[in-house]
Amino acid sequence: MVSSPASSFRERARLRLRAVGAVQAPFLAAVLVVAAVSTAVLDLTPLQDFFILIGVVVTIGTSALAAFVPWERFDHGWVAIIPVLDFIAVAFLRDAAGLILPGVGGLVFFPVIWLAYEFALTTVWLSITGALFVASFPYILMLTLPPTPLDWARVFLLPTSAAGVALSVRLAARHLERQRDQLQRTTRELRNALATEEEERLSLAAVEDTVDAAITVLDVDGRVLRRNRLALEFADAARLTIGLDGSGAKVFQSDGSTPVAADPASIADTLGNEAPDGRLLWIGEGADRLAIMVRSQVLTRADGEPFGTVVVAHDITRLIESIRVRESFLTTVSHELRTPLTALVGNLDLIVDRLEDAGIQAPSEVAAIERNVARLLGLGSDLLLAAGDAAATRIVQGEVGALVRAATDAAASRAAAAQIRLLVDDVPTVAAMIDSAQIRQVVDHLLANAIKFTEVDGTVQVSLRADEATWSLVVADDGIGIGSREQEHIFERFYRSGEAERRAIQGAGLGLAITSSIVGAHGGAIRVDSVPGRGSTFTVTIPRVPAA
Ligand code: ADP
Repeated sequence: MVSSPASSFRERARLRLRAVGAVQAPFLAAVLVVAAVSTAVLDLTPLQDFFILIGVVVTIGTSALAAFVPWERFDHGWVAIIPVLDFIAVAFLRDAAGLILPGVGGLVFFPVIWLAYEFALTTVWLSITGALFVASFPYILMLTLPPTPLDWARVFLLPTSAAGVALSVRLAARHLERQRDQLQRTTRELRNALATEEEERLSLAAVEDTVDAAITVLDVDGRVLRRNRLALEFADAARLTIGLDGSGAKVFQSDGSTPVAADPASIADTLGNEAPDGRLLWIGEGADRLAIMVRSQVLTRADGEPFGTVVVAHDITRLIESIRVRESFLTTVSHELRTPLTALVGNLDLIVDRLEDAGIQAPSEVAAIERNVARLLGLGSDLLLAAGDAAATRIVQGEVGALVRAATDAAASRAAAAQIRLLVDDVPTVAAMIDSAQIRQVVDHLLANAIKFTEVDGTVQVSLRADEATWSLVVADDGIGIGSREQEHIFERFYRSGEAERRAIQGAGLGLAITSSIVGAHGGAIRVDSVPGRGSTFTVTIPRVPAA
């Protein structure tokens, strides 16, 4: 006995019923027909009648065995008992009626087929033996040998045909078994693949709903393929109903007013793959609008063909709001400070004038106060500029060379006081469209920084070059330099390098922010190349005539 798992138990029970239905039941029917025909039509001897009875009884017995024994509980090989017993029934029937009804011998193919179908190729010998037994049964009973060569031939004809039938049935069965195995394997694989896909789908959905970001996947035509809970909440918060075709999405550029069209080209343009830190966009209008920081990634198939874009967005409305509050606070404070400070400067000038009128030299403390008040005023206007309160850039025809010469002349005494060599290459005359006051500010800032961040005995070199289309100013020093990570931030407002802080070098971290915004307003660019401990080179490049 073998213990089988439930599924294989059921499978075997099913097989048993199938075998009974497919082989044993027709066999029983055929036997009953043969018996009925033989007794009704043939003129049989009592012994032949008796043999037919034995054949029928044995067949009924094997059919009952086949139907009622729980074969699935036994080793499969035991089932072979039934066809083997069937051979015995066929032997009796054939002996009784076979000579007159030669077709009776054909009954032998029922057990042969069963054996060949159910068992391995090695059981073909059982079929041959069974058929041989059936064919030689009359001689076994009489304990004689077949008398003539024809009789011998008859004895061997049946097992030979049985072998042929058994072989072809076995081969067909094996083919079927292979197909069934293949089908089962494919079904199993399919089921596993489906299960894996389902798990992946569930985990993706869980990740989408857990992350603190709105995720939307668009196809190449800008239609929404999927979006997570937060993406819907964002739309809700902005009081928008965004359809799966992207309709209803009111999206604006970072200026808050230029709309982003919902067509794929505009989306690709706006989101581009090359904004790794994300892009600021606005969704919705009026008081309900949201500021979102959006990052995107084009999805491509293995062959490189794009099939969509995944868009990840964070709500930064409160952050933007607090930046706005900070800026308006800075602007207000700077404005408010300017008035009393200007009054202070005026009054100090008056004091100095009056003292001079009275023939008294103003004490050095007054000069110190003047210096510090001037610094405070400078800081105030830097803050205003940095907060975007700058007077609009007024670009007119100007000359850059004169500005650079004036700025280097003014810086010469500071450089000398700091014991720094200030080298100025031959300054050419460069006519260009500029806001002279602002460009002077740029040169002053870069020079002041170069002197400030260079140690005693260092060198600062200034050069101005121009070609037909652009002019560029290079301010290089061999000072303390800036680490590569910090270089990314020095143009941000209030950013100061760790080294500048450590050395307590004066500054508010506004100069470069103002400089780069002036350069930007002229349609130019500013670049830094620097190695810590070796020095920095700032290069400003501006078109001589800004693009319209
Ligand atoms: P501030 O000079 O007032 O600190 P800036 O905006 O001009 O502010 O500069 C920002 C930071 O960039 C400085 O604090 C300093 O760390 C760095 N930096 C600017 N210019 C130089 C330079 N020539 N050499 C070294 N570091 C510099």
